[in-house]
Amino acid sequence: MIIILKPYVHGETREFQRIESHLKSLPNIETRVHHVQGAEQVLTEIYLIGNTAALSLEEMKSFPGVETVVRVSEEYRVLGRHKNDTRPNHFSYNGVEFSQDNLNVFAGLCAVDSPESVEAMMKALKENGQNCTRMGAYKPRTSPYSFQGHGKNCLPYVFELAGKYEIKVIAMEVTHESHVEEIRQALDETGKPTGVMLQIGTRNTQNFELLKSVGRQQEFPVLLKRGFGITLDESLHAAEYLASEGNQKVVFGLRGMKTNIGDPHRNMVDFAHVPVVKRLTRMPVCIDPSHSVGSRFRSSDNILDVMHVTAQAVVAGANMILVDFHPNPKVALVDGPQALRLEELPLFLEDVAICRAAYEKRRALYQNN
Ligand code: PEP
Ligand code: MN
Repeated sequence: MIIILKPYVHGETREFQRIESHLKSLPNIETRVHHVQGAEQVLTEIYLIGNTAALSLEEMKSFPGVETVVRVSEEYRVLGRHKNDTRPNHFSYNGVEFSQDNLNVFAGLCAVDSPESVEAMMKALKENGQNCTRMGAYKPRTSPYSFQGHGKNCLPYVFELAGKYEIKVIAMEVTHESHVEEIRQALDETGKPTGVMLQIGTRNTQNFELLKSVGRQQEFPVLLKRGFGITLDESLHAAEYLASEGNQKVVFGLRGMKTNIGDPHRNMVDFAHVPVVKRLTRMPVCIDPSHSVGSRFRSSDNILDVMHVTAQAVVAGANMILVDFHPNPKVALVDGPQALRLEELPLFLEDVAICRAAYEKRRALYQNN
């Protein structure tokens, strides 16, 4: 059960203390208080854990200061959608809105290799009206002998260049909690020219200690990639780890599943799950066509597979696209074969706009019927 308090009610108010002392008197009930940044103010929510079936919704609603009470199903308590659930399906970060109702494109480098590549990428983004990107500094690689990313050494120039080209949010994978501190420190030292969305990669979807530490901080939103070899339910529970620790600014990322059945794509594309995740949870849903397809193969219609799967996801209501580009894919240190070229960015964005408009038309069609 979730008790959502009125905007003016918080820990110091009499209304809160009254409810709290009532809840404390209930046997076998534990409480967890979450503070959620709303559009204008911080909202307080009390999550009740334990034998809540015996509690009366009406009684909880009757306390002064209570806005609404939601009875949650067991699954995905914080991020899930429950009956009569009016909690938001959006958040904003550094001036960018993330929502189940909009779409953000994060085109960028799989791995940061040089300041020149970063600058060429960001310049192209600005010229094409984009304010988000992806930049991998910490790269989890299959082989220990492969390039592991420049790590904290590249952060100062990545952040400074982001400021120069007015990039507001950079998706950046972290594989250890110390990386979060390094990012925070580099942002402070460069005067916070941009924002960072922490990315948990598919290899770490069930790294519970990493999830807990990233969930405990609320400065950075999180993009959680679906685990490539586990069920959707297990990946959604992983997202719940972040939220249960306090960070509800979570985007859920689909990136294909590891199975040879998906060949010749690198992974079995799972974008049919975009509307499924939107139905089950309040998270915006991201798709990663580059790591799903893994190549620049094109079909007989002259459209790249990467673009085709992007289109399928956007037409089905995807909310974020994380996609690899590189100024010179031949020399990219990671995943060059799947990278789009900077000259392809306008085409890519135009195709995405066509697909988004088609989704909006589809949505209107079903709303009126
Ligand atoms: C990436 O986005 O750079 C990446 C490594 O993705 P994934 O974790 O989905 O393999
Ligand atoms: Mn990659």
